[in-house]
Formats: sequence, C-alpha cells, structure tokens
Amino acid sequence: MTQPHAPPALEVADFHKAYGPTVAVAGLSFALPPGEVLGLVGPNGAGKTTTMRALAGIIPPTRGTLRVCGFDVAADPVRAKGRLAYVPDDPRLFESLTVWEHLRFVAAAYRVAAFEAEGERLLARFELAPKRDALAGELSRGMRQKVAICCAYLHRPAAMMFDEPLTGLDPMGIRTIKETIRARAAEGVGFIISSHLLSLVEDLCTRLLILNQGRAVFHGGLDEARAAFADGLADASLEEVFFRATAPAAEPGP
Ligand code: ATP
Repeated sequence: MTQPHAPPALEVADFHKAYGPTVAVAGLSFALPPGEVLGLVGPNGAGKTTTMRALAGIIPPTRGTLRVCGFDVAADPVRAKGRLAYVPDDPRLFESLTVWEHLRFVAAAYRVAAFEAEGERLLARFELAPKRDALAGELSRGMRQKVAICCAYLHRPAAMMFDEPLTGLDPMGIRTIKETIRARAAEGVGFIISSHLLSLVEDLCTRLLILNQGRAVFHGGLDEARAAFADGLADASLEEVFFRATAPAAEPGP
C-alpha cells in the first residue's frame, strides 16, 4: 500500500536533453504520484523515449533533475534504479540464457531473496511455463516481450515504465498485462505507459502527458484534456484530443 506522504514514484524537473544541435526535450517537468498510470503520448520524435531513458539513468540530462521515489537518478543511481523497471520497445535478452536464468539473473541483480515462487507464478501468468528452460534465442517475438515483462515485475519495483508494451503480444498476453498493470497500480506502483495505441492509453491510464517537439502540451486527467482540446465533449475520443493537441499552429490550406 502507498505510504501517506510518499514521494512521487517518478519526478522530472526542468529536464532538457540536446543531442548536438537537436533539442529532444526542452524544459519538461511533471510528477507521477504512486498508484497512478500515466499515458505518455506524442508524435514520432516528441521526446518520449528520451525522457524514459533519462529516468532510467541510461542517458544523462543536459539539464534538470530526475527522481525515482525521491532518489536522484544522477546523485543516487543505485537506490533510484533499484526501485524502477523500464521495459523498452525492443527489450534485449541474453541469447544464451534460458527464460528461468533471466529471472535468476534479475533476482540476483536486485537482491530478491526468494524469487522462485514469484518467478513460477509470473511464468504461468504469462503462459511461459512451457518455455521455462528454452534459450532466449529460441523464443518468438511475443515470448521475448513476455520474458522482459516478467523480469520487470519480479523485483517488485515501485515505479515502472513500459514503451509500447503490447508489441507482439497475443490477445491473452494483452489481457494479462492490462490486468497486472491495474493490480500493481492498486498496490501503489506508479506507471508510465508510452504508446501510439491511444485506445490502450484511454483504457488504462489515469493521467495523460502529451509531448510535442520536446515540450509538454498537456498534463492532467483525461477529462481535463477533453475540456482543454475537445470543447469539453465527454465522449470525445483520445484520438480527437491528440490530434487537436498536437496540430500545427497554422493548418495548411486545402
Ligand atoms: P517515437 O514515437 O518515434 O519513438 P519519441 O517521442 O520516443 O519518438 P525520441 O526517441 O525521444 O522520440 O527522440 C526525440 C528526438 O531526439 C528526435 O528528434 C530524435 O531524432 C532525437 N534523438 C533521439 N536519440 C538520439 C540520439 N542518440 N542521437 C541524436 N538524436 C537523437
């Protein structure tokens, strides 16, 4: 359960990232409370992956501060990374390790004392039990995605980030990941779900962050987004909100 006065699961303050002359993110700030599921959306190149990679400590910010559960990713990386799981859209596995050896590796890295029962439960939940002893190199794309998801859940992080989590998953896998995200959020885990599948974001997310060209154009609840961009129409789809929020200032003529 979430502690009263718990720090945000994820916090970004005045985050800038430039790659040479390319400004990927320009002054982004937001805080994600525990138990919330944030939909991170925006057109290609908006800065979504850059933001998640900086939160995961994979790339340093050009400026600004990023925190996981109150721990500064730059100043206190071990404690910050220990509370976070990040599943990118192309998760890398160790080709010469089996599925079970991946779980054992994650348990050792995150010092999970008795991981076996939870590991077996996760494999059963994601229909990977028959592949327990298969090498990663022998798995289908969807199975590889499921292994990465099981590894992420295994160490019970307080903050989780999924980039296009449905990639390659079969219908049962899609149902399972949605159920597990809802269940962990109810236990107080803060999630970022980045996806171009706006129906997924609409279905799962309690908050929305729309990026465009490295800047936040909206952060708040879905109803607030409808009020801001769809004239408050209660039944406006997220797709409608998205196109209005990210439209160029001046529409080209016919
Ligand atoms: P997509 O929806 O296509 O995944 P995104 O919102 O995740 O896009 P980012 O990957 O964060 O976008 O990219 C933001 C900007 O930063 C883009 O202009 C991209 O070309 C640039 N960029 C990202 N990584 C690098 C890099 N390693 N070197 C140079 N430029 C980069």
